[in-house]
Amino acid sequence: MDKLDLVIRDGLIVDGSGAPPLHGEIGVDEGKIVEVSKGSTLQGDIQIDASGLVVAPGFVDIHTHSDFSLLQNPKAESYIRQGVTTSILGACGRSCAPINESKKDLLIKDIIGYDPQVPLTWRSFADYLGEFEKRGISQNIAAFVAHNAVRIAVMGYDERAASKNELEEMKSLVGASMSAGAIGLSTGLAYPPGSNADTDEVIELAKVAANYGGIYFSHLRGTDGDFLRGAREALEIGEKARLPVHMAHFCGFFGNFEETQRGLSLIRDARNRGLDVTCDLYPYLAGANPLMAFFPPSIFNRTQSTLRSEFQDSNLRSECAKEIHNSELGAFWFNKPETANRIILFDLYAASNQPLKGKSLAEVARLKGMQVVEATLSVLAEEGENMFNTGIICKWMEERDNFAVFREPFHMVGSDGMALAPYGQLASFKFHPRAYGAFPRVLRKYVRENSILTLEGAIQKMTSMPAKRAGLLDRGLLKKGMWADLTIFNYDEIRDTSTYERPNTYPQGIEYVIVNGELVIESGEHTGKLPGRVLRHGASTRS
Ligand SMILES: [Zn+2]
Repeated sequence: MDKLDLVIRDGLIVDGSGAPPLHGEIGVDEGKIVEVSKGSTLQGDIQIDASGLVVAPGFVDIHTHSDFSLLQNPKAESYIRQGVTTSILGACGRSCAPINESKKDLLIKDIIGYDPQVPLTWRSFADYLGEFEKRGISQNIAAFVAHNAVRIAVMGYDERAASKNELEEMKSLVGASMSAGAIGLSTGLAYPPGSNADTDEVIELAKVAANYGGIYFSHLRGTDGDFLRGAREALEIGEKARLPVHMAHFCGFFGNFEETQRGLSLIRDARNRGLDVTCDLYPYLAGANPLMAFFPPSIFNRTQSTLRSEFQDSNLRSECAKEIHNSELGAFWFNKPETANRIILFDLYAASNQPLKGKSLAEVARLKGMQVVEATLSVLAEEGENMFNTGIICKWMEERDNFAVFREPFHMVGSDGMALAPYGQLASFKFHPRAYGAFPRVLRKYVRENSILTLEGAIQKMTSMPAKRAGLLDRGLLKKGMWADLTIFNYDEIRDTSTYERPNTYPQGIEYVIVNGELVIESGEHTGKLPGRVLRHGASTRS
């Protein structure tokens, strides 16, 4: 055989299929894997000595929110350094396209970390995907067409069912996006504007995605309350629209193990009925949210200055507290002591609030001698212009529940994070440690330290499973003919270093990351290369 572009020698090959590891070498030429064998006979222009290292397919993240941040910094620092070579965008109903000019400002409200320095020059989903190709990216991406974006384009944040015409308009946007290469439809039915849609609307839109061979991805309705109700709805949508279903961050709340088990049984039963159902969950027990995310839309939709004056006045404050208590979301989060104990104030900006950092809402209420909601509102009044940024950590899971989900064969790893970098604009984000650490954390905590998963089982959940789920049939496995996306790491040293206190730190132990045959991480450092591609649905089966 002639000299190849790249040869990786003497590594422990974990091929992504779940099969036991084998020692050997991998040959890469013109961006693809051309040889996987036990020998050491290949010659390459570049040769990597992988002795003592694990060679795996590049990780595929089925659940990210890098829709905008990847345009801000195409190097995908916090993900490529975890070994993630493909990120799926448009999760949980949120995306940056399609855009209806007259509703553009409303869409901006739904874009995580929007920054006017990246102008929204595209309108269609096709042009949005093209934007990544224009700029170049260090990792591959594929994307869902997102329900929120589609609904905002047609009816803004209107709290009502769609009219017949509006539904037709939404269907045609979903159709256009699918034909431009979306891998399916995603929804976030737990929060506005997705929560304004009824089940029938989603079924009709999912049918359009089904016609193109797409899947249905859901951040469940009522995840913040009754997650089983949300799961049943997602399964109903899959069954009526006839398409595979993927449920995001799937786990019961607050250590309610019975509920977690019932949720997992719902999936098992549906799979036994023939429905193709999977889920993802990240390897952390707490989420990080803006505190305002727990308020009903009637409060959330008011302007900051209105809210500030209402929260400062004790009479108006108790009116707001009542409004929150009477809402479904508010009743769930603020009426129970077990919840107030699990919500910890974290990102506080006002000097007067600093002593409250790290305290639970229950403690804050005790200190202020107020009810939980009123105490929360008085904290927000102090925050003033930062009230929408005031962040909390919510310890919503117990380890037992989390591990139970990870043990299921239909679970895959999804970070639910966004591509960030500890420099430039994105450094100001204090998001969640998962944006920098989710994948290495699984290998450290779930494989090496707790033996919840085998190495090959964990790699499968990070590579071939999500690739297959996203319809990317030529990625996720180390096999002849597949695209050469690879992650090479030291098993004993791989670990996450990001924490809730210091979320913006890179993981350790990942030596090389290769995307489409090109080195993006070399000896632990970013080469600056941008070999990532936009992966359009159907393209991998056609070529
Ligand atoms: Zn999400």
